[in-house]
Amino acid sequence: MSKKLDPVTQAIRIQTPRTSQKEHSTPLYLTSSFIFEEAEAMRSAFADESDDNIYSRFSNPNVDEFIAKMCALEGAEAGFATSTGMSAIFSSMFALLKQGDHLICCSSVFGSTYTLVTKYLQRFGIESTLVSARDNAAWEAAVKPNTKMVYLETPTNPQLELIDLEWVGQFAKKHQLILNVDNCFATPLLQRPIDFGADLVVHSATKWIDGQGRVLGGVIVGRADLVNDIYLFCRNTGPSLSPFNAWILSKSLETLDVRMQRHCENALHLAQALQHNPHVFWVKYPFLPDHPQFEIAKKQMKAGGGVFCIELKGGLEAGRKFLDSLELLTVTANLGDSRSIASHPASTTHSKLTDTERRAVGITPGLIRISAGLEKAADILADIEQALEKSAV
Ligand SMILES: *Cc1c(COP(=O)(O)O)cnc(C)c1O
Repeated sequence: MSKKLDPVTQAIRIQTPRTSQKEHSTPLYLTSSFIFEEAEAMRSAFADESDDNIYSRFSNPNVDEFIAKMCALEGAEAGFATSTGMSAIFSSMFALLKQGDHLICCSSVFGSTYTLVTKYLQRFGIESTLVSARDNAAWEAAVKPNTKMVYLETPTNPQLELIDLEWVGQFAKKHQLILNVDNCFATPLLQRPIDFGADLVVHSATKWIDGQGRVLGGVIVGRADLVNDIYLFCRNTGPSLSPFNAWILSKSLETLDVRMQRHCENALHLAQALQHNPHVFWVKYPFLPDHPQFEIAKKQMKAGGGVFCIELKGGLEAGRKFLDSLELLTVTANLGDSRSIASHPASTTHSKLTDTERRAVGITPGLIRISAGLEKAADILADIEQALEKSAV
């Protein structure tokens, strides 16, 4: 076809070459290694003179199909798929940074990313400075002669703060830093960091990309030269994605566009409705006009995403009661599922911290994070409303 296909169509139509069985849907290539008819063919594969598959730690047709679709969606030159989001984040840092290098990292990042940066990078002599999402001057002040990479998420979890991608893209370019963006919360359907100058985009495919709470997976896409270094690191250290999970995730990408539309519609509808609830102090969602960074959201996102937060007037105790009163929504340590999920960080994931420590990372006592599923919005809203009623103290 002469016309270049839209990325959404590519995510549906990119496919491994059909086998002699002429299957319509991609078969599962559940094999650890691949056969060579001649020693010469094996030599040339190992010498990188051919694209033949050798061993599934290096490449596999299901994994290649998944990553080709992700490259199309993100507008990236190359990519590599990993076993989890964390192995993608870990590999994107450890493959490119060395002892003596410095990383600037947004202070509100996913919990394990925070531990990776503050505890493990340091152990290998890689320095880091954490900067607040909304303080542009702090990012400028953090630049040092040995700074090599900038790492961030937007929207952040669970505070839903935004980082202006246009601004940070120019910032990274000016200082010649590798810009590495975790695009898990938005997905490429809502936001494409590469269009704003990101060099690398990482994902937890476990969330919206799978979208049904079945498998773990990770993605790294971006500039070909950087991805090649990451590929060589991964090929030798082993965080590869399994063919089965890649097969699932590749099928998931065929429906990502329609799913994200419904997730975003539901999230916006619920966020708007709950703004008027007597038990709710405030609602935070990037596409509500009273979000402090609404203008940035409109500039860089096509819709507000599937996650919103509410602050309960009753605080900590109300949050606990709210979780216990839910009948439809699930209480589970995940997000980005077809089933709506609620979490109350203060009484669960962050319960070991003191109130002051929690507030320092943006976790207020009555903060509830909702991941809007694909159920009918009226059913989700009715469950949230009855739980709010019961949680009132
Ligand atoms: C879940 C998550 C991760 C980690 O992904 P895993 O697949 O669980 O390893 C990283 N970043 C963000 C924003 C996440 O939500």
